[in-house]
Amino acid sequence: MTPNQNKTRTNLIGMSRDELADAMVSIGQKPFRAKQMWHWIYHRGAKTFDDMQNLSMAMREKLDERFYLGRPEIVRHLISEDGSQKWLLRLEDGNEIETVLIPETDRGALCVSSQVGCTLNCSFCNTGTQPMVRNLTAADIVGQLLVARDSAGEWPSGIEGRKIMNVVMMGMGEPLMNFDNVKKALTIIKDGEGISISRRRITLSTSGVVPLIQRWRRNRRRSGHQPARRARRSA
Ligand code: SF4
Repeated sequence: MTPNQNKTRTNLIGMSRDELADAMVSIGQKPFRAKQMWHWIYHRGAKTFDDMQNLSMAMREKLDERFYLGRPEIVRHLISEDGSQKWLLRLEDGNEIETVLIPETDRGALCVSSQVGCTLNCSFCNTGTQPMVRNLTAADIVGQLLVARDSAGEWPSGIEGRKIMNVVMMGMGEPLMNFDNVKKALTIIKDGEGISISRRRITLSTSGVVPLIQRWRRNRRRSGHQPARRARRSA
């Protein structure tokens, strides 16, 4: 797929369930198709519409005309002796970000980026020396998890022995400065019919932007649960 082809089509990755339903309606399908798409994209890890074997050929072609399933491109994938893994990923606009898998005894935590560069400049941090370029979209954030799961062969979501069980928003960027997209991405990541990372296994790490911590807490109370388990004073 060339970038020009992408300009005429819309990425389904990163859409909320409601947006996905609207996308299905826009091609003459019933909204319930969104549930089917959600299952294929986030539970089974489909990379193309051709992977969706229970859809008719006509439906797959129609989807392919209007939409695509866009993941970040892997520029480099490094595996260290201690088992940690780092992906250098290129986004659709050419910007690059890093995602890191930190191994634990029998599981691992995926350290996910939220911005290209960073708004802040904490003295101990290399990212802080880089200019802030842009906030990541929900697609960019969720895409990091999809790529890591592709590499680890951890599809479908409930597969036994999977390593990527924890998510920490602690990569490049200050997640609370990209509030809406981080919130949307974490809602997708914890959805039990998709990627299904338990909300208790998601950590949002912040350098301490107090008004935004308060906003996150208010939002958490309103939604009746905790998209992020705790906020830490480091990123
Ligand atoms: S907020 Fe995080 S990514 Fe940004 S400069 Fe500070 S430590 Fe680095």
